[in-house]
Amino acid sequence: MWKNIRIAVLLFVLLGVAVHSWLDRIATQGWKETLWVGVFPLNGDGTPLAQHYVEGLTVKDFSGIEEFFAREAHRYGVAIEQPVHAELYPQGSELPPALAHDAGPLGIAWWSLRLRWFAAHAAEVPGRAPPRIRMFVLYHDPATLDRVPDSHGLQKGLIGVVHAFALPAMAGGNNIVIAHELMHTLGASDKYDLGSGAPLYPNGFAEPDREPLYPQGRAEIMAGRRALSTQDFEMPQGLRDVVVGPATALEIRWTRP
Ligand SMILES: [Zn+2]
Repeated sequence: MWKNIRIAVLLFVLLGVAVHSWLDRIATQGWKETLWVGVFPLNGDGTPLAQHYVEGLTVKDFSGIEEFFAREAHRYGVAIEQPVHAELYPQGSELPPALAHDAGPLGIAWWSLRLRWFAAHAAEVPGRAPPRIRMFVLYHDPATLDRVPDSHGLQKGLIGVVHAFALPAMAGGNNIVIAHELMHTLGASDKYDLGSGAPLYPNGFAEPDREPLYPQGRAEIMAGRRALSTQDFEMPQGLRDVVVGPATALEIRWTRP
């Protein structure tokens, strides 16, 4: 008897989770209504420089992301005028849980649960409507590290964690990383070699039919970098030089198979 009840409760919870993910998918891949994306800035390293940078942020700093989504969506015939709206929320005080570099499947599952818990209360701002997708952007003083930690975007939970540089000159690059992780929450997959970082041919190339193939003038958003030669690649200055390739457009349902 109790065993049956326990199983019934468990099935009910699993069903709830499945229905929730399914509804999220419909809401984020329909492209009939503007998708609200909340940017939650955080001081990632506790430095005065990062703090100063975060305090100087305005919603305008993220308008390039809206323009990028609108321009590329329209190129694929998506009718909605503004597919994505980026909203800037006040600075948070707590940092999201970090994912250990050597985390196994169980560690990742545990981390993603803790991240969802974190996002649920960190995105609650009195007087402000909660966004559909929550992007936590951790700013770092470039002097404290040579390389920012890996950023993440989760489709299940609609959460992104982005590590960014607290430098005006890097604002364009930061927006590329935010747009990339946002794309992950919408169902897009990486299109670069996870070992070397090289864009994968052809899906990670903005112009796979270009002759000569190198150097590529622009980057595909899920590759993040444009290939200069077979070995060299670089991140463009900003989203102006980034496109959404056909494979990514299909994954986020801008096009149908
Ligand atoms: Zn990625």
